[in-house]
Parts: sequence; C-alpha cells; structure tokens
Amino acid sequence: MRTWIKDPLAIFAEDAERGLVVEGTRIASRVARGGTPERIDEVFDASRHVVLPGLVNTHHHFYQTLTRAHPSAINKPLFAWLVALYPIWARLKPNELRLAARLALTELMLSGCTTAADHHYLYPRGLENAVDIEVEEARTLGMRMTVSRGSMNLSEKDGGLPPDSVVQDEETILADSERVLKLFHDPKPGAQIRVALAPCSPFTISKDLMRASARLAERYDCRLHTHLCETRDEERRCLEMHGLRPVDLLEETGWMSSRVWLAHGVHFNTDEIARLGKAKIGVSHCAASNMVLASGICPTCELEAAGSPLGLGVDGSASNDSSNMMEALRHALMIGRLRYGADKVTHRDVLRWATEGSARCLGRSDIGRIAEGYEADLALFKLDEPRFSGAHDPLAALILCSAHRADRVMIAGNWRVVDGQPVGLDLGALIAEHRRAAQQFA
Ligand SMILES: [Zn+2]
Repeated sequence: MRTWIKDPLAIFAEDAERGLVVEGTRIASRVARGGTPERIDEVFDASRHVVLPGLVNTHHHFYQTLTRAHPSAINKPLFAWLVALYPIWARLKPNELRLAARLALTELMLSGCTTAADHHYLYPRGLENAVDIEVEEARTLGMRMTVSRGSMNLSEKDGGLPPDSVVQDEETILADSERVLKLFHDPKPGAQIRVALAPCSPFTISKDLMRASARLAERYDCRLHTHLCETRDEERRCLEMHGLRPVDLLEETGWMSSRVWLAHGVHFNTDEIARLGKAKIGVSHCAASNMVLASGICPTCELEAAGSPLGLGVDGSASNDSSNMMEALRHALMIGRLRYGADKVTHRDVLRWATEGSARCLGRSDIGRIAEGYEADLALFKLDEPRFSGAHDPLAALILCSAHRADRVMIAGNWRVVDGQPVGLDLGALIAEHRRAAQQFA
C-alpha cells in the first residue's frame, strides 16, 4: 500500500513541497515541487494541513498525571516539591499507573507526539512490574516508546531524599533491569519499544548503582538516562553525598558516553558543557518544568554548539503540569529568546529540537525526520481555530499562535489520531476513569 500525503499547506522537510509517500511502516519518498509520485494506491489530501515529523518527547513521569496541580506541592521549588509529593506517590498501585500511562500517552499523542520516553523510578511494594505495564499500554495505543527503567537505592536513612518505601536495593534493581531488557528491548531500526536504564538523580542513587547500570547498558546496547544539574540544591547535595559535582559524578561512574541523555541540564559551567559536548551526551530541555519550579534556564545553544544532541521534554505532570508537546515547543522558543535574543532561537530551531534532536537523544536515526527510509511517524495540524485566523507563515503559526492539538497523527504508517480523536479509544471514558483514580489516590 502506497499512500501519497499530497500537497500540504506547509511541511517541515526539504524538497517535499508536494508531500510524501508512505509505504508500509516507512516513508518511501518525498515529492518535490513539480513532481508526481508513481504507483500510488491512495491519496490523502493534506492541503489544509501543516505536516511535521512526529514529535519525540524525551522526558516524562507518567504516574504524575495523578498529582497535577496538587495543593501540597504547588508554589514550591524542587526539593520541597519532592518531599511534599513522595509520601503521596508511595501509595501508587499497578492499576493507577496503568491509567496514568494510558492518559499520558493519549495526551501526548493528541499533541502530535509519536515517540515518548518515560522515566519510572518509583517502586513501592506491589509495583514491581511498572515497566511491563507501560509497555503494554504503549503497545495497545500503537505509540513508540523508550521506557526508562528508573531506580533509587538511597532513601532518607542513607542521606537520600525519598522515603524508604519507594526505593529498592541495588541487587533487586539490576536483576529487574536485566529482566525487562531481555523481555522488551528492541535495538533494531523501526523498533516500537526500547528500554533505557535510568538511576533517578544524584541525590537518590549510589555510585555503585551508576557504575553497574552503565556496564549493563553496554552489554544490552541500550541508552542511559538520569536527571542532572536541574537545580543548585542538587549540586550542593551531590557534593555532600558523593564529594563531586554532578558532571564529575558522571565521569567517575563511566557515564561520559554517547549512550547517555540527561534531563534538564540547567546548571553546567563552561568546562562541563565542553566535556558533555565532546562525549556527545544528549540533553532533554524541559522548559515548562524548569519555569514552574524556578530551577533555571538550560544553556541549549551552548550545548548544541559544543556537540550535544538537544531534545525537548514535557517532564512529569506534577511540574508542568500538562503533557502537551506543542506547548513544550512554544515554551522552549520563549525561554530561549529571553535568554539569547529574538533572532537566536527560531520556530525552526524548536521544531528541530522536538524531532531530530529528541530522536538523537533517544539514540534513534530512524525517526524524527521526513526523509526516505525513515519511519512513517507524522503529525498533521489544521489551522482552523480562532487562534490561527489571520496567520501568514503556517509553520511559524504552529508555534507562535500556540497549536496544541493535532488533527491527525500517524505512527509506523497507521493513523492513530483522526479528526483530533484517538483511534479505538473512548477519550471521555478514559478521562472519567483517570480522574476517579486520581481522587482516590491523592
Ligand atoms: Zn523528571
């Protein structure tokens, strides 16, 4: 089956003025100005759509959709926010995580996201199969996903921040990491599911766990992820607990590797940016979360110039508090301009970060671009809401007029969102069920 996505209003790709051809799960060809593709079975008229490569989210905590705008946590910086929420999160049960994952994945997909990364590091008793639950939900929705098997092994009694009931010992963590890598990790191009290993943050993990996770990632050829340099508090705590600045902790534990992508990356010095860039370590820029928690501003332009892949992340829904990827692009544009100037961060930059840049963070060269051989992951937006009326440049309008919902989303050649609705899922029923679970949970 060859489908021509024909004559888009605008498209974020070179030499594709007349659209593209999808064959099976992949992009067979772009159609340049004046061109007409051959052997077409089906035509999709995209003349009212702006076409983007599917957006790639590089950092999230799905379970936090259950604690958005929570009264105990609003208006607080990171550590006070975490300490307020840990005891609530410690009550998380499998069915609640399942609903949270389904809701977050659906919310992301409706905003044009086709690949999601989730960092799940919370393992209270009974939630040992958290990764399995997220994989099942992604498969049911047809979403591409990197599920990060998170971990914490230092609790309050060891000088860490989380309560004892949500952490696990190193042996348990590594055994389960290996179990889910064997079960779910698919390193091949076109993979739907990949697994990454993700010790949570410098103030919740031991050096040994960092080292062992890096060795395991090497053996199974998977990515490594962690929160790093999010706040000054974190830097101080890292110096107290490990006697090292966060980037030196990476160096000492075998993490200065192109396998690694970091969440946040706000507080680096010039020397650290150069070292990270040289090692090709990716950074997930989570602008909304950094603004909500007043953590600081990620040095996006310096990191990219140094050689680091730069991607975007919505971060968890307790510090954003939405999971909308298009909003993440707008936030990145605005905070970037505030830092660097109006001509330094453009709508094309944030589109590139949310697609190709994010894909590179996840170690993927098969998604994030509209080009021959790439996976057919697409997000199509209509400009028919009041907010777009009077807009001229359609690509710029998506960001500047604040597009927030895709009209159509294709993942691996299949339409997963049609007319702004998820295919095969009752959105109203899901919201009702998720809201009930959140009330009971919190
Ligand atoms: Zn996070």
